[in-house]
Amino acid sequence: MLQIKNLHARIEDGAQILKGINLEIKPGEVHAIMGPNGAGKSTLSSVIAGKEEYEVTEGEILFQGENIIEDAPEERAHKGIFLSFQYPVEIPGVSVTNFIKAALNENRKANGLDDMPAKEMLAMIREKSEKLGIKKDFLSRSLNEGFSGGEKKRNEIFQMMMLNPKLAILDETDSGLDIDALRIVADGVNTFKNEGNAVLLITHYQRLLNYIQPDYVHVLANGKIIKTGDKSLALELEAKGYDWLLN
Ligand code: ADP
Ligand code: MG
Ligand code: MG
Repeated sequence: MLQIKNLHARIEDGAQILKGINLEIKPGEVHAIMGPNGAGKSTLSSVIAGKEEYEVTEGEILFQGENIIEDAPEERAHKGIFLSFQYPVEIPGVSVTNFIKAALNENRKANGLDDMPAKEMLAMIREKSEKLGIKKDFLSRSLNEGFSGGEKKRNEIFQMMMLNPKLAILDETDSGLDIDALRIVADGVNTFKNEGNAVLLITHYQRLLNYIQPDYVHVLANGKIIKTGDKSLALELEAKGYDWLLN
């Protein structure tokens, strides 16, 4: 599904951040990326999503066999790549539901499909929101306006479920993820996951991985993946920190 080969990227006119990343994600897999602060984890997720403040200087990103490096962020989204916090804006007067309806129909349009019939859309909203324990009044609230940390997470996971991407990238930068927000993310990922999609979960903290079973855990440090293992690597990192891997 995703193949990253020798990826080098820098901030536009700035420092080199990614220094030769190799990563392969197959359908049905959950990959976790961990690593010290400043390692380049968020940069990697931004570069996969195509954010324009970064420049790829070497290497390839293949999504379903196609090089996507020249694609704009929207094109990548239309192809089925979802990045959490891609839509963090507050939009007074636009509800959670109306926003996701518009995003979903825009996605369909880009893929040559007509708008989803209203009835079908409603049924889907009902199904996904019930699965995530989202209440009706939340769906009619203005997007992100006055949302708590947990509500932002809930909205993000709801967006992921509705858009149903092939590859979901969740960058859990938030050091303030409380236990409720953690559960929302974990339940969401576990509900979303199936044999046809994949998840790239970026996290500074091992505790999220108590709730989500990753197939692979990678350690990113100084712009490179320096170690890959299974879930036990996350536990080892929790016990020993990162220093033993760095020197
Ligand atoms: P992580 O998510 O692993 O903590 P980041 O990818 O956020 O790391 O950052 C890696 C390095 O790149 C840091 O030194 C950070 O300061 C720098 N960096 C990332 N994005 C930018 C940017 N847009 N402008 C300036 N520096 C940046
Ligand atoms: Mg950081
Ligand atoms: Mg980060």
